[in-house]
Amino acid sequence: MSNLRFQALNAVLTRTVPEVTYPSAKISDFFASNVFDRRKMKEYLSREAYQSVSDSVVLGEQIDREVAEQVASAMKAWAISFGVTHYTHWFQPLTGTTAEKHDSFFEPAGDGQGIEKFSGDALAQQEPDASSFPNGGIRSTFEARGYTAWDPSSPAFIMGKTLCIPTVFVSYTGEALDNKAPLLRALGALDKAAVGVAQYFDKSVEKVNASLGIEQEYFLVDLALFNARPDLYLTGRTLFGHMSAKNQQLEDHYFGSIPDRVLAFMQDLEIESLKLGIPLKTRHNEVAPSQFECAPIYEEINLAIDHNQLLMDLMDKVARRHNFKVLLHEKPFAGINGSGKHNNWSLITNTGKNLLAPGKTPKNNLMFLTFFVNTVKAVYEHSDLLRASIASVSNDHRLGANEAPPAIISIFLGSQLNDVLDEIETSRVTSKMKQEPTLWTNIPKIPQILLDNTDRNRTSPFAFTGNKFELRAVGSSANSAGPMTVLSLIVAEQLGKFKVEVDKLLKKGEKKDVALMTVIKRYIKESKSIRFEGNGYSDEWTAEAEKRGLSNIKTTPKALDVLIAEKTEKLFEETGVFSKREAHARHEILLENYYKKLQIEARVMGELVNNVIIPASIAYQSELITNVKGLKELGLDENTYAAQLEIITKLSEHINFIRTNVLEMVNERKKANVIEDLREKSIAYDEKVKSYFDPIRYHVDKLERLVADDKWPLPKFRELLFIK
Ligand code: ADP
Ligand code: MG
Repeated sequence: MSNLRFQALNAVLTRTVPEVTYPSAKISDFFASNVFDRRKMKEYLSREAYQSVSDSVVLGEQIDREVAEQVASAMKAWAISFGVTHYTHWFQPLTGTTAEKHDSFFEPAGDGQGIEKFSGDALAQQEPDASSFPNGGIRSTFEARGYTAWDPSSPAFIMGKTLCIPTVFVSYTGEALDNKAPLLRALGALDKAAVGVAQYFDKSVEKVNASLGIEQEYFLVDLALFNARPDLYLTGRTLFGHMSAKNQQLEDHYFGSIPDRVLAFMQDLEIESLKLGIPLKTRHNEVAPSQFECAPIYEEINLAIDHNQLLMDLMDKVARRHNFKVLLHEKPFAGINGSGKHNNWSLITNTGKNLLAPGKTPKNNLMFLTFFVNTVKAVYEHSDLLRASIASVSNDHRLGANEAPPAIISIFLGSQLNDVLDEIETSRVTSKMKQEPTLWTNIPKIPQILLDNTDRNRTSPFAFTGNKFELRAVGSSANSAGPMTVLSLIVAEQLGKFKVEVDKLLKKGEKKDVALMTVIKRYIKESKSIRFEGNGYSDEWTAEAEKRGLSNIKTTPKALDVLIAEKTEKLFEETGVFSKREAHARHEILLENYYKKLQIEARVMGELVNNVIIPASIAYQSELITNVKGLKELGLDENTYAAQLEIITKLSEHINFIRTNVLEMVNERKKANVIEDLREKSIAYDEKVKSYFDPIRYHVDKLERLVADDKWPLPKFRELLFIK
């Protein structure tokens, strides 16, 4: 057999390190050069038009037609100066990736000539013929139209020779069909609620924006080796593979020196990202071999998410130029660490204040405490929804796998803040305290700068890290819009409730600080069970969490139930983020995605076992049989071929096992396929089909250890993970 594995290994040996040239010595010279940002708008637009776009970005006001016309023609002029020929509405459908449909600026004029055109209408709205995007039943064929609409808060950019315009994607009836529309709605709700509360402390706060910094983990494998692994290129992860003798046990990869080929890729990726205004700042090796991380400086959340989506796209494109494949899957290799996407989240006012940064004065401390405790309370109230927002078939492999936070949502605050909350809980807040300072005598001082001494508890899914919360449970391949929409909307709802309660007390004549502290204190008490400072990976925590009544929903189909629960319906409705129909549609889409991915994995597994693993194993076994026959012919005694016989028997055992189990799995798949109800079907796929994966894999991996190395068809872990 012409073994693809050896062809690939040869290809890797001939790789060279491509030269990377920076467009300019200073990053500031080319940063955002491919973005139609504020600076360029100012240059290309009239003052009025510029102001109107600015207002729309800052205040969310509608842009009128005339201005859109001006912006379109400015964008076109700018883009054409870069040799751009096409434009596209760039959007984030519920497939998890980004989508684009390119149209040319060129329009024939009828006289054999033509002209480059881009109208305000074309900028503002498009109707992609996109009836096959996931819609969860929202778009029946008679109303199959979907519209993309310009999001002026995320600037247009150039990719290749195409002008890309960030847009939302909605149905004819206005329902969200993408990840961005609900995010923008949640951010609107959050802004309103947070401003309402911030005004207790500072009347100059008119706008609150969430900020987000996303740390992105990923694996790199050589493109040739990747292409020799059908499981990798069809499912994004290895379905088989015996652990390499050396893996991450020496802990020598983490923060180690970056291999030259990888560094060249990273530099190239940084150049492309920086040109698109993605402020990439950090790069380093991660824990597992061939695992890396990059992180930008945090930005306004909507932009940060667009940038992360764009970054994932760029990673793939740039990697190809370096003969690498980027694996964004949460668990591409069993037995070593998987990848996540840490979401660092904070709330920043138009006055530049971070509401989650402890302040210097008691007043600022109280403002911090308010937002801090409300966030804790929101996560406590809706931990299941947060869990659902990070649920996916691929993240199921990672959560709770002793290298990623468990599926139990808890909050880590660090010992200092934990103590502060404990002390507040037991302190007396009374309206008899007339003078403000007296109120504070019982309240512990919050240390100003916690940044340097926040404990780094890596086992917590949601940790406070000095001036921001870090949601660490998000999967590496996920669109952060999902979890960030949920986080934003639950905090919005919580702040709204808080304001109602405080206002009630104020109406009764309570002093402001006392009113605030009274509610804060109660929230601290009520949400106590979600706080956990210990080791989230431990079995003790699982038991303790159960005692506390915290959920531990291990698999996606059940984790998603909460999306259509009554409590959630109310929450969605009150915050205006999802209608009932939208929530049900999303629930359906996520379930469909879940079982379909398992279906694909099961099929790939079956194909590989039947057509690759078994034939290779039998071929080797035949060689052994020939050998034994020969030895027998020579009249040698049984001892001379005892080992061969033993291997022959073992091979047969493993071959039998995988053959029969694949057949049984196919049978279970057939049964699952006829189940109509998507939840039932997904659960059947999880419990009846996926349950075959590990046993089959175990025996395939045993075969890998028995079959002669030169007969094994699939690149091994040691090759995928260590060859650079
Ligand atoms: P690490 O967690 O690896 O120590 P940092 O905490 O410094 O690294 O930063 C991780 C990410 O958090 C970066 O993207 C950074 O820009 C972002 N970040 C820092 N401060 C904030 C903030 N106030 N709000 C949101 N993100 C932030
Ligand atoms: Mg971090």
